[in-house]
Amino acid sequence: LLEVRGVTKTFGSGRRRLTALDGVDLRIGRGQTLGLVGESGCGKSTLARVLLGLERPDEGTVRFDGTDPFALRGKELLAWRRRVQMVFQDPFASLNARMSAADLIGEPWGTHRDVVPGAKAREKRIRELLSLVGLRESDAHRYPNEFSGGQRQRIGIARALALNPDLIVCDEPVSALDLSVQAQVLNVLSELRTRLGVTYVFISHDLSVVRYISDRVTVMYLGKVIEQGDTENVFERPQHPYTAALMSAAP
Ligand code: ATP
Ligand code: MG
Repeated sequence: LLEVRGVTKTFGSGRRRLTALDGVDLRIGRGQTLGLVGESGCGKSTLARVLLGLERPDEGTVRFDGTDPFALRGKELLAWRRRVQMVFQDPFASLNARMSAADLIGEPWGTHRDVVPGAKAREKRIRELLSLVGLRESDAHRYPNEFSGGQRQRIGIARALALNPDLIVCDEPVSALDLSVQAQVLNVLSELRTRLGVTYVFISHDLSVVRYISDRVTVMYLGKVIEQGDTENVFERPQHPYTAALMSAAP
């Protein structure tokens, strides 16, 4: 589904120059979940922004089903944007408090008019999306401040699903939640994978969460991918000393 090759991204210039990504290679097959780990500042979110088309790499290529998203314009670009969605860390900051759950979930349809369901179908689709993430129909008319953190994150997920994306990039999606709520939200994500075949890039500093949800794991260090492989292999038999240190520091 997605292939990244030799992606490099630097910020600033002169003495302030900083290499956030340094020759990153990555592949994700359809339906897979790729866990992306590494210490703060190693470039995970920058890579996420590249995958979302929000940050153009200085060097290297990104191919999405064989297409370079950075070469797309106009309608084609819009069509591609629909296919890649994001779930953010902070469900409090990322949802507009003045919009009801139904409006929040349906908001992406505003920019993608080609996939907007008609009024009737729209209500039905919102009910479907609510039920997919384990919320009730009556929740459609409630506002963000009337929901718990976990419920808000479910709204964020339903919203990401509204356009039937192929890939969802989750940047620390459960880090702001209590442990028991984390488990519920992770179950929602993993059920969606089973039911809808969603592909995820899952960024987290919590290794037990990554181990639970990911098929494959990519370890980054100072902007480089230093190890990647099947989750159990990476956890059980880390090849790189940094990975080994990271794993042994995990609870
Ligand atoms: P964390 O786990 O803390 O979220 P991260 O792995 O997501 O960290 P990034 O946000 O990708 O790290 O940042 C990688 C490096 O790039 C950091 O040193 C950061 O300061 C720098 N950086 C990121 N975005 C920008 C920007 N827009 N301008 C300048 N520097 C940036
Ligand atoms: Mg980050």
